[in-house]
Amino acid sequence: MREIRLFVDTPLRVGLELALPATAAQHAVRVLRLRAGDAVTLFNGDGHQYPAQLSTIAPGVTRARVATVESPARESPLRVTLLQALARGEKMDWIVQKATELGVARVAPIVTARSEVKLDAARAAKRLEHWRAIAIGACEQCGRNTVPRIDVAGSLEAFLAANAATDARFVLQPGDATRIRSLTPPPTPVTLAVGPEGGFGEDDLAALRAAGYGALSLGPRILRTETAGIAALAALQAMLGDF
Ligand code: SAM
Repeated sequence: MREIRLFVDTPLRVGLELALPATAAQHAVRVLRLRAGDAVTLFNGDGHQYPAQLSTIAPGVTRARVATVESPARESPLRVTLLQALARGEKMDWIVQKATELGVARVAPIVTARSEVKLDAARAAKRLEHWRAIAIGACEQCGRNTVPRIDVAGSLEAFLAANAATDARFVLQPGDATRIRSLTPPPTPVTLAVGPEGGFGEDDLAALRAAGYGALSLGPRILRTETAGIAALAALQAMLGDF
């Protein structure tokens, strides 16, 4: 039977018996129809996973007892921050999910001059919660025990001011820029900036250049914003990550 992985936002240790949070309990009991005695794997983002057994299933409470702890190596040696201009609708969800599967370390959504999506503080906080849930769901599915950091959406300027990076820095730009395969030695940690549907504006590009971002091309075809970062991540994982 496939491993059933459940995220719990609480410290875990061998021997601990804990009540599962409502969403995890509902998923285990209502959706997966698990019973007392069934095996689950708990994780909380601390880098480990905790095989456990459901000990109680009763109305309003589902409990599990942690049997052991495991630390499989599922994090890539390549540390990538995806500086992603907000994309419309469900595209951003897709980017967070796929980037998590591809081992991204951090996703920083940004509003740029040509971003078609604008968020006030309340909506930005709600979106952050939503994207974090998507990243957790992706970790449940792909086996990562470290949940990538997702930032609250902010301006490009704010990101650049707060991240005087020691990382290698690139802005993905269609055209004749440096190609990924010619990066020697391949950079890590690395921040990749991806523009919105309409591309980065001149001011954005000037700010990125001033902050040390070199242009990086993914070849002669124009990719959609939701494709570009994911393609770059996959290419970098193949070059120096764990593909
Ligand atoms: N007309 C826009 C332009 O020329 O920038 C196209 C924007 S594209 C739909 C959205 C973003 O994806 C771009 O800002 C860039 O960051 C990235 N992108 C798309 N195709 C790319 C390529 N071939 N190489 C590198 N980055 C690319």
